[in-house]
Amino acid sequence: MKKILMIATGGTIASEMTPDGLAPELNPQQLLGFIPRIAELCRVECLQLYSLDSTNIQPKHWLGIAAAIRENYDAYDGFVISHGTDTMAYTAAALSYLVQGSPKPIVLTGAQKPIWFDSTDSKRNLTDAFIYACRGCGGVQIVFNGRVIQGTRARKTYSKSFQAFSSVNYPDLAVLQDEHLLQYIRSECSEAPVFYDKLNTNVGLLKLIPGTQKELVEFMARRYDGLIIESFGVGGLPEYEHGGFYDAIRGAVEQGKIVVMTTQVPNEGSDLTVYHVGGHLKSTLKLLEAYDMTTEAAVAKLMWILGQTCDFNEVERLFYAPVAKDILYSVE
Ligand code: ASP
Repeated sequence: MKKILMIATGGTIASEMTPDGLAPELNPQQLLGFIPRIAELCRVECLQLYSLDSTNIQPKHWLGIAAAIRENYDAYDGFVISHGTDTMAYTAAALSYLVQGSPKPIVLTGAQKPIWFDSTDSKRNLTDAFIYACRGCGGVQIVFNGRVIQGTRARKTYSKSFQAFSSVNYPDLAVLQDEHLLQYIRSECSEAPVFYDKLNTNVGLLKLIPGTQKELVEFMARRYDGLIIESFGVGGLPEYEHGGFYDAIRGAVEQGKIVVMTTQVPNEGSDLTVYHVGGHLKSTLKLLEAYDMTTEAAVAKLMWILGQTCDFNEVERLFYAPVAKDILYSVE
């Protein structure tokens, strides 16, 4: 029988009702008590790492989860991390950079409804997560509503329904139906994982709106070591008559800040070269674009890279080098 470590971090799945709404209170043993079937599938040991609504999860918690996996790696065949859904896609992306090439499955799951609700997705998701941790591929994945999504490709796209997550610009890896696993894509993994334990969390994200004031760009470019700008369509910066955006970004780039352009459109990614509003930036400034990467992955990847180097050429090389299928677009 496979031996799986369950790392609990909180989320709706473990929540009880309080006068102000749901808050995580159940421990992993209590969660497993609702699903006796899991004890027939594998041997489970539990680690209650946090008990947080994932709104409160920060990069230090990503490092904590990665450290827990590292400390326990040799003793288990796979890992199930129960986690709130709200920021699960960020945690999945971050773990994909902090634990690379794992031959053992590292599975995140959670639920839209607490485990004690009559109508809950908790039982299915947790059972499927353990099945995948026993029989699935290595690497970091989200298992949710019968689908297995690459950790770097997930995004929460429904705030209430059971189908909470989508795989962005990449197919699902597998599906689970009535305890059967259909593995469409096998993730590539190495003999042994490579662990990282450093992030530069001084990374900011700016979502443009029509009329965004250039002072905001100037402030964020000053404040952060890495700035990701979610612009419109395939990407670009406003060229308003009063100007200023281009100069703000040029100033930041000249100071050695890393600027990454991406898009707020959910699918198909960026291509700055299509329009003058993007092409002019791309051809004159040393900046990066996220192409088909998710914003969640771009944020986590930039924190991971800036934890190692701030040299533009090295940042560029690492940013465009695929990790766990996070980017397919290849830069020659
Ligand atoms: N607010 C909750 C959380 O992210 C939502 C959930 O788990 O579904 O922790």
